[in-house]
Amino acid sequence: MARVYNFSAGPSMLPEPVLKQASLEMLDYEGSGQSVMEMSHRSKVYEKIINEAEALLREVMGIPENYTVLFLQGGASLQFSMVPLNLFGEKKRADYVNTGMWSKKAISEAKKYGTVRVVATSEDKNFSYIPSLDKGMFDQDASYAHITTNNTIFGTRYPSIPDTGNLPLVADMSSNILSEVYDVNKFGVIYAGAQKNVGPAGVTIVIIRNDLLGKVMENTPTMLDYKIHAEAKSLYNTPPCYSIYIAKLVFKWLKDMGGVKAIEEVNRRKAAILYDFLDNSKLFKATVEPEYRSLMNVPFVLPTEQLNEEFLKGATSEGLVNLKGHRSVGGMRASIYNAMPEQGVVKLVDYMKRFEAAHA
Ligand code: PMP
Repeated sequence: MARVYNFSAGPSMLPEPVLKQASLEMLDYEGSGQSVMEMSHRSKVYEKIINEAEALLREVMGIPENYTVLFLQGGASLQFSMVPLNLFGEKKRADYVNTGMWSKKAISEAKKYGTVRVVATSEDKNFSYIPSLDKGMFDQDASYAHITTNNTIFGTRYPSIPDTGNLPLVADMSSNILSEVYDVNKFGVIYAGAQKNVGPAGVTIVIIRNDLLGKVMENTPTMLDYKIHAEAKSLYNTPPCYSIYIAKLVFKWLKDMGGVKAIEEVNRRKAAILYDFLDNSKLFKATVEPEYRSLMNVPFVLPTEQLNEEFLKGATSEGLVNLKGHRSVGGMRASIYNAMPEQGVVKLVDYMKRFEAAHA
């Protein structure tokens, strides 16, 4: 069977060369006589894999020396709790920006451990934009500020990173890490679930500035303390070994294609193909204001539910799968992460053009 173009919000497509490499190494990883899935996480051979994964991630993201990289479990959702538990400190106050369902979840978890102030929200227009923010809006006496750089469900993206003054900025980058160049120095913590731009589900990336380690709240479970994982180099307990190995291959693939800067150009081109068509269509409509449009998740709608359904059915039969939108927006959503080939977007737009012509 031919491989499909998978527009799922996650888990999503992985680069084909990565899957091929993994299949070649499945039975015998580099002469070890075993699969990466079978080897001890304490073995020399595995240590090399996790160290390489970290080194490659540091290289492609330009992560400075004063930041620690962690490979954890529990998804981005566990970070909604780990961030407040580790960063609230004495003050127990944080500023959050509410730009969608994932921000809301982050807010409700943080509220369990301290005082959360919602600095701004875009809920008034069903999260179809990013509120404008300036330094004066942030409480310089709080412990940290939290944003979601890309909103997977609503298809919005921060056009620029807000200046939060001295307040460490924490970013949920689950759906756009490695898709565009970010200056890591602007952040106190970056976290991301892997299953969009990094690799298979199961590993969560946390990048944390070293001065923020070691302030964990009393009675926090050991497994939720960043410092414990930092000291153990992400090997405090058994890590998600295979997911980390695939992530290593993805980072290498990204490096070999020119790094984040190169993929950002491809991503901008891919998104433009789709948005240009949507903006000129008489039938399809993009749901997000142009300035705030995501490069990764592109929601769009047709005038009726019947047309949405017909469109999705036809798409599947053409090998364009998982285009159904999230129920809170409706219609369709094309998630076009790093591993979605440009050809997949071209094929989607070609089908949209034919659909439009047939319904003119
Ligand atoms: N944050 C964002 C922006 C997401 O898109 C998602 C998952 N789609 C999550 C958090 C939750 O991630 P996980 O399923 O890894 O817990």
